[in-house]
Amino acid sequence: MNPVERIVLQPWMEEPPTRKVMAALRAAGSPARFVGGSVRDALLGRPVLDIDIATPEPPDRVMALLAAAGIKTVPTGLAHGTVTAVVKPRHFEVTTLRRDVETDGRHATVAFTDDWAADASRRDFTMNALFLDSEGRIYDPLGGLPDLRAGYVRFVGDPASRIREDVLRILRFYRFLARYGKGEPDRAARAACRALANLLPTLSAERVATEFLKLLGVPDPLPVLGIMAEDGVLPILLPEATNLPRLAALLPLEPEADPLRRLGALLRGDGEAVGRRLKLSNDQVDRLAALSDPPWPVDPVGDASAQRRALHHLGPQRYGDLLLLRISETGEKGRLESLFAAAGAWKPRVFPLRGADLLEAGLPPGPEMGGLLAAIEAWWEENDFQPDRAACLARLAEIQGQA
Ligand code: ATP
Ligand code: MG
Repeated sequence: MNPVERIVLQPWMEEPPTRKVMAALRAAGSPARFVGGSVRDALLGRPVLDIDIATPEPPDRVMALLAAAGIKTVPTGLAHGTVTAVVKPRHFEVTTLRRDVETDGRHATVAFTDDWAADASRRDFTMNALFLDSEGRIYDPLGGLPDLRAGYVRFVGDPASRIREDVLRILRFYRFLARYGKGEPDRAARAACRALANLLPTLSAERVATEFLKLLGVPDPLPVLGIMAEDGVLPILLPEATNLPRLAALLPLEPEADPLRRLGALLRGDGEAVGRRLKLSNDQVDRLAALSDPPWPVDPVGDASAQRRALHHLGPQRYGDLLLLRISETGEKGRLESLFAAAGAWKPRVFPLRGADLLEAGLPPGPEMGGLLAAIEAWWEENDFQPDRAACLARLAEIQGQA
């Protein structure tokens, strides 16, 4: 296969970790080429975060070649030919050229090959089937380069057949559309996504969550979410994801793109239930739960002490989430920046008394002690976390004197 063009070497290609991995893979004479996101983004002059590499060497040889160069390997998905090479601060997904011999909509049985065009053909979109070598040469067996430049997300082969092989490709289609799409999206692809959307529930929650959060992370996910709703994909994927207007109001307020917060803005109803269903981490579920059912109110026009109390109860992240959501709903964004600055500078306040202090003060252990401690804590909080240990003990004596 001949290269179609040559690009200038990108900084990430010349970094020592990248050079080291590529040299190790080529040590036995086989080529190794970049593929996927790094190639697309290099061609478009966008920053590259993830590096995927393709090679005709089978996975056991990939492991051996990397080990021989002293590179740490992780057998990430050996059955599919994927080995992770770790050279800090980077890691590289190295995948053996393959073709899919059997597919069931969710998994594939694969055969390794040394045929670059065959490997390109099993990939999802033409713009994802571009290869780039260490000299900057681009290989394009399927005409992905013009599609990439035109912002045209085109399935490799017949969209419906490719979706039946792996239903996740429906979500990937919209994700790449959101990230690279320009102009009218491919009609045949949209029709296939519409027709096969009923297969989405067969996908594992983890795969859906990963793709959907990536989609939500693009600079402006709204237009494509609108298309997904129109195509009947969004209601099947996530019936609760109906609050597009609230997400639209949130986007211009965000200090940075945060896919999970965006998901929270998009949902109506119980965020915790959605998070559990998507098998998100406990931290992520907790954030979604707080967005739909705030454990403490956030009032963007409340005074500084009210903000501190909210920060104390919610922590800066959930506080920031709720603040942005509230302002998305009310539109009162005047104080957003100063509130965020205060949240960023927030130091957790620690209530200065413990149960042991009450025992020492002569209180009998028991349920009343917990109540008393909580009452002093509430007073400490109402006094804006100012009372120190001595003042809290004085307050204790005062309450006891009243009793
Ligand atoms: P990103 O920048 O988001 O990582 P990417 O294109 O690198 O985008 P990955 O999920 O890392 O996406 O996959 C790497 C490559 O593997 C893709 O470019 C594509 O060629 C191929 N690929 C990944 N998932 C699929 C799939 N479900 N079906 C077909 N090919 C796929
Ligand atoms: Mg990638």
